[in-house]
Amino acid sequence: MTELDEHNRLGALFESGAPDLLEQQQAAARRAAQQADGQRRREQSRPRRSESLLRDIAVSGRARLHGSGVGAPDEATTDQVLRWTIEQFGDRIAVASSMADTVVAHLVSQYKPWVDVLFGDTGYHFEETLQTRQRVADTLKVNVISVLPAQSVAEQDASYGPRLYQRDPTECCRLRKVVPLRDRLADYEVWITGLRRDDAPSRANAPLVVWDQANKLVKVNPIAAWSDERVAAYIRDNDVIVNPLLSQGYPSIGCAPCTSRVAPGEDTRSGRWAGQTKTECGLHVI
Ligand code: SF4
Repeated sequence: MTELDEHNRLGALFESGAPDLLEQQQAAARRAAQQADGQRRREQSRPRRSESLLRDIAVSGRARLHGSGVGAPDEATTDQVLRWTIEQFGDRIAVASSMADTVVAHLVSQYKPWVDVLFGDTGYHFEETLQTRQRVADTLKVNVISVLPAQSVAEQDASYGPRLYQRDPTECCRLRKVVPLRDRLADYEVWITGLRRDDAPSRANAPLVVWDQANKLVKVNPIAAWSDERVAAYIRDNDVIVNPLLSQGYPSIGCAPCTSRVAPGEDTRSGRWAGQTKTECGLHVI
């Protein structure tokens, strides 16, 4: 469709008395233009720097932001961490989101509008999670990218047999989450996650900034020190999009076959791979 055709179409819509629809379409066109602009900007940005240089930046960032140690009272604030991250990495920043509470996507979009938000779309997500992803893409100033595995669920079933997640969840996570996200992260110099020390004992020492050897880029956890109460207050004060499953007994949300309801008072991550020794998908090596 040419620009003139589009102009005539929008004019006809307006005359037909559908201003709401017109407004929605104009908003969608604006979002598409902004996303395209963000994409152009990223493509034109400088090349990714070497691994050794990025590692040095992580080391100096850690020294500067952690004060006297991980969790110490003189640690940097979230604002200081995010300002440092943007100053150091410019457009080569990715945010990872599981589309649970979307706090980090919202937070980073305030500092870096149209930042890339990577969502590992395993093919096994709850419908509520996919709807949350769509709401984020439609309303936040971010560029949501679904990171897909090499094989569809049906293709994986044909190669490995059905329900690999029951027989070998580590391999299933590797194929559907870890490898696709690792490959995608090769385009960036830093990834920002919503990992928090309060999430689980395995995350109690999560740093603000670290060199991520497995994925070969810098990793920043700006809300590592946030309590559950602080997260709830941020959601309330900023009207942050949340996955409705969070209030239906799922305090931690992953793929549907590997996520169960948690009873009040239980460890919030106990519903992930319940009954198995597995506690992390393998993406976060802390
Ligand atoms: S969480 Fe379960 S279904 Fe999802 S990738 Fe891992 S093992 Fe597979």
